[in-house]
Amino acid sequence: MYFTNLHTHTVYCDGKCTTEEMIQAAIKCKFQSIGISTHGPVPFFTDWNIQECNIERYIEEVTLLKEKYMDEIDVFLGMELDYIPGVGFDERIRSIMGRLDYYIGSVHFMGKLNREGRMWTIDYTIEELILGIKENFHGNVRLAVEAYYNLISEMAERYQPPVIGHIDLIKKLNKNNLLFDENENWYIIAIEKCLDTIKNTKSIIEINTGGISRNYTLEQYPSTFILKMIKEKEIPVMINSDAHTAEGINCKFEEMHDLVKVLGFGRLELLTKEGWSAQEI
Ligand SMILES: [Zn+2]
Ligand SMILES: [Zn+2]
Repeated sequence: MYFTNLHTHTVYCDGKCTTEEMIQAAIKCKFQSIGISTHGPVPFFTDWNIQECNIERYIEEVTLLKEKYMDEIDVFLGMELDYIPGVGFDERIRSIMGRLDYYIGSVHFMGKLNREGRMWTIDYTIEELILGIKENFHGNVRLAVEAYYNLISEMAERYQPPVIGHIDLIKKLNKNNLLFDENENWYIIAIEKCLDTIKNTKSIIEINTGGISRNYTLEQYPSTFILKMIKEKEIPVMINSDAHTAEGINCKFEEMHDLVKVLGFGRLELLTKEGWSAQEI
């Protein structure tokens, strides 16, 4: 079995460990490769995206560590890039993309919090999620959720990110179906539409255990019923942990390998020095 993880964070963003500590954790877990995917820069202030002044140092550091550990593990230089509503990936982001081995395209921002004058994130606190829906969608949860999946579709269509991050992140703070029920017909239709768009791109959907490891969600992203739809549509998948600590590097990986087997997936995508490839399950 080939173990890898392309979704990891470091002290360059909101991760708790250094790049080297993450690589060493992956070696300890006998991974064949690891990708470092620091949250990319955004054109406004946050305390969890890499700062513009650190980008060159980040690229240099990962490149040096690639060399240092080349006999033990393949290290890939990546970023998790924010698809911003109304902007997409701006020119600055596109120029960085070209220097990376891969990137993960994610939607965390869905608009603005007008009264507070800052960007609205859907995965920070439940209060912020509700306020954003109130200010941007007149409190209509369904419209907000549909708009979220439309943004993912738009990102996939415009850029075909190598990996699409935590596709159903919108469920993260929806504990006990506080805002919506994933079994509702409109929710399933919204996902179906989004998957049909992704199916026509080259993007891989990640199975992400980050919500479980940080105690937000009971299930991985995407939920198992969505994984079944992904399997039906033959969209490629890979397993990542969205690790923010060295200990989280392989969170629930064995369970996820069992799950994809049970669901009947035939392969898992992976990145090699020669490019994208896959392993049979
Ligand atoms: Zn993310
Ligand atoms: Zn992440």
